Amino acid sequence: MLSRTGTALRGMPVAATRLGMRFYAQLPLRVPVKMPNGIEYEQPTGLFINNKFVRAKQGKTFEVVSPATEEEITHVYEAREDDVEDAIAAADQAFKSGVWSDADPLVRAKALNKLAELIEEDLETIASIETLDNGKAISSARGDVQLVANYLRSCAGWCDKIDGRLINTGSTHFSYTIRQPLGVCGQIIPWNFPLLMWAWKVGPALATGNTVVLKTAESTPLSALYVSQFVPKAGIPAGVVNIISGFGKIIGEALTTHPKIKKIAFTGSTATGRHIYQNAGANLKKVTLELGGKSPNIVFADADLKATVQNIILGIYYNSGEVCCAGSRVYVEESVYDQFLEELKAATENVKVGDPFDDATFQGAQTSQMQLSKILKYVEIGRDEGATLVTGGERLGNKGFFVKPTIFGDVTEDMRIVKEEIFGPVVTITKFKTVEEVIEKANDSEYGLAAGVHTKDINKAIEVSNRVNSGTVWINTFNDFHHAVPFGGFNASGIGREMGIEALENYTQVKAVRAKLTLSGK
Ligand code: ADP
Repeated sequence: MLSRTGTALRGMPVAATRLGMRFYAQLPLRVPVKMPNGIEYEQPTGLFINNKFVRAKQGKTFEVVSPATEEEITHVYEAREDDVEDAIAAADQAFKSGVWSDADPLVRAKALNKLAELIEEDLETIASIETLDNGKAISSARGDVQLVANYLRSCAGWCDKIDGRLINTGSTHFSYTIRQPLGVCGQIIPWNFPLLMWAWKVGPALATGNTVVLKTAESTPLSALYVSQFVPKAGIPAGVVNIISGFGKIIGEALTTHPKIKKIAFTGSTATGRHIYQNAGANLKKVTLELGGKSPNIVFADADLKATVQNIILGIYYNSGEVCCAGSRVYVEESVYDQFLEELKAATENVKVGDPFDDATFQGAQTSQMQLSKILKYVEIGRDEGATLVTGGERLGNKGFFVKPTIFGDVTEDMRIVKEEIFGPVVTITKFKTVEEVIEKANDSEYGLAAGVHTKDINKAIEVSNRVNSGTVWINTFNDFHHAVPFGGFNASGIGREMGIEALENYTQVKAVRAKLTLSGK
């Protein structure tokens, strides 16, 4: 780990590294980093444009902090509008050249497969970088990186299957459709799954022949920069993938308003999503948005209670609760409520929280001081609203952004802790008596990202799945992602789907071709 005084930033003024965002003339384009698990690597710090790491034109950098220790890891270069112009120009030129968009689809498939292979071969280092930068448990980070490789391979498999159709319009014409890429896609990702969101964005865009300019979240730029070095090695031509680090209000804004960007793909908060949708709408860009959630997780009395307790734990404490589809509203059938709550409380108090580099840790650090403060604020709000704090509700230790897994009981549907997305390890528990009642409660939300149903009764499971307003329903499982299964939200949880064949539709447009035939003898 780099020290707070930045001694590992060789040649850098010691004081400068303490100052957060500031002007650096010469931050090196690679800095050595030693991680707490002993792995050492070179972190790229530049903007990745045209298959090269470059310094930001204005020379600005910003600090990247470890959420587990609150110490500085490094600085990275901060893109501004002029760098965004460069990145878009590179992507535009690469798209127009046809080197990627017009290539035999198997060229793209081969490159995406190679990228997956390079990432998989380096899984331990990449997972460690994710843990270092985001604070998530190393076991979760390893899972993320495997999902990244799986998804890139899945996208590779789609490359030569993006077909149109032949349309029978009679013998006087020949009519068909083809699906064509959109052009330069602007992609903006959040900080909770930095590399997985990178893959969910880059994979389908590339499979369908687009080029991209992707902005990472300001608190977690490291893993995306690290894997960018594999892009040329995988055989992806210059300009196809461009990765920039920087701030939403500056370069996020520049991307969403730029006329050369044909599509915006965004994952993040509903508030920012609304704003981006307006920008994109004003410029008639295509948009996909994966936004917030407040997912209901429903437990019927006939469920396997032991397994369900584990599913509820996975639903809310996985990734420190920083999951847009987290099962944050648990509804338990009245007859098993007391027993369930007791078992959930015991299991919650057993969740191993702490050093994210410890293999046994389930819940690592929250990603930022801001997120920690927000979670603790919601604990206060819950108390003030009259909910019962069953367990947790406080910071763990005084170094690093750790929170004890938290349960609130005796909640009512109008409480803010039931209505608003907390984005942390905080769950509310409510009783219900009937299917009708629980569906009404589950659907009483502006969101609609995911829902969970736990029961041995297939009829109940399917009925609830049909009636609950959410883009995903998990039955007897939760936070259970697969690259072939589409993911996205109803209502305020978003627009469009990621993964599965559905993701590809968002990155292509249909062209209809109709040829009038000159027929013999007519
Ligand atoms: P949070 O507030 O939890 O950081 P956001 O939804 O604001 O979540 O952030 C997700 C991503 O959106 C980040 O990459 C961030 O930089 C970006 N972002 C924030 N504001 C804007 C904006 N006005 N335009 C475009 N992107 C933005």
